[in-house]
Amino acid sequence: MNLLITNCIIFTNDEKNSILKGHAVAIAGTAISEIGPEQDLIQKYASYKIVDAAGRLLMPGLVNAHMHSYSTFARGLALQQAPQNFHEILQFLWWRLDSALDEKSVYYSAAVPAISAVKHGVTTIIDHHASPNAIDGSLDQIEEAMSLLGLRATLCYEVSDRDGPESCKNGLRENERYIRKCAGMRKSNEDHLYSAMLGLHASFTLADETLAHASEIARVNDRGCHIHVLEDSVDDQLTREEFGSGVVQRLAAQEILGPKTIAAHAIHVTAPEIDLLAETDTIVAHNPQSNMNNAVGRADIFELIARDILVGIGTDGMSADLWPDIRTANLLHKHHTGDSNVGWNEIQAMTLKNNPRIYERVSGQKVGRIAAGHAADVILVDYFPPTPLTRENIWGHFLFGVADAPVDTTIINGRIVMQNKEIAGLDEESIAAHATECAESVWQRFSS
Ligand SMILES: [Zn+2]
Repeated sequence: MNLLITNCIIFTNDEKNSILKGHAVAIAGTAISEIGPEQDLIQKYASYKIVDAAGRLLMPGLVNAHMHSYSTFARGLALQQAPQNFHEILQFLWWRLDSALDEKSVYYSAAVPAISAVKHGVTTIIDHHASPNAIDGSLDQIEEAMSLLGLRATLCYEVSDRDGPESCKNGLRENERYIRKCAGMRKSNEDHLYSAMLGLHASFTLADETLAHASEIARVNDRGCHIHVLEDSVDDQLTREEFGSGVVQRLAAQEILGPKTIAAHAIHVTAPEIDLLAETDTIVAHNPQSNMNNAVGRADIFELIARDILVGIGTDGMSADLWPDIRTANLLHKHHTGDSNVGWNEIQAMTLKNNPRIYERVSGQKVGRIAAGHAADVILVDYFPPTPLTRENIWGHFLFGVADAPVDTTIINGRIVMQNKEIAGLDEESIAAHATECAESVWQRFSS
């Protein structure tokens, strides 16, 4: 269906951060086709279905650059032992939880944050999944759950040697299968919502031959890898002990790095390692809430950005809503540096410009801008500016207003997914009830 959105304030997210009033946005099929004076477009597109935004803010949907949908079932979960460090957080919580997932719980673990994403204006997710006892077809389960909403996503399976060679082999196979499936779909439909990366856990749980194999699959299929890099110093310590190399040096030598590869976190990187990330044009995803929650330190986003590394922002499973991480990033770096002036431009760029660029690099699709030819991923926010709104002060409005404002309408790939805050054709309560049922059995396996 073709749409014409009228009666809105448009934040285009172009280079000038243009704000348009008295304009309408035409959507033809899956893409934005024209932005122009409202009366002209109403006449020109008389057959289009009108969406009256009632004065709301129209902006591009947000991109989450690093997410773990499977973290859903950690909510309310009791640990048997209090972890004393990051390695123990992985051992006592995440590696036990992912092992307890079965096919059905993978599906519901993705459906729950998918709903939340749509409600908070996140239209694209770059997900990183682990379920070592339910690997085959797990990415299809996530895709199916996200398809309930029509979310756009790049998926991958977290390969690791931590669960033995069989699990590692199956993980590589699942990535390869899903990469080929998405490539096939994309061939027949360039607007296909799903794409794939090659998922890897982290250097310290990956053998040399696994990295070599992963790198080969990624290279042959022209995909990037999605891997945790120096989230904690344990990655450096165990990689040096086991493999006699620094993490980034090792990943570079194995040809894992590159312009389509996402290195999540990059906290404990040394100067030569930053050089390597910059030389290979590797993407970095910053996840401030998760980093603070795990007490693993802070990425020096200023140094990374100064080196022209493409740095984006993700939630690392902390929430499906991106705004809490954006606001945390704004506070964390000021607090850490003792300088209340830092971070304003960097975090704005990471959120609005870099995350869509990251998605374009890994998937080939243009999102994140209200411009002709870009994907029609558009949200209408209940934000009626109480102070003058200009292209110069837009970030202040976003950080302290839009971040808290309810999203009324979410359109993805030209399809209205949510309107008047209602997701049509979706029984949210029933999904939550099924998820709770799954959680009970997941928690039982977790504790046994
Ligand atoms: Zn992560």
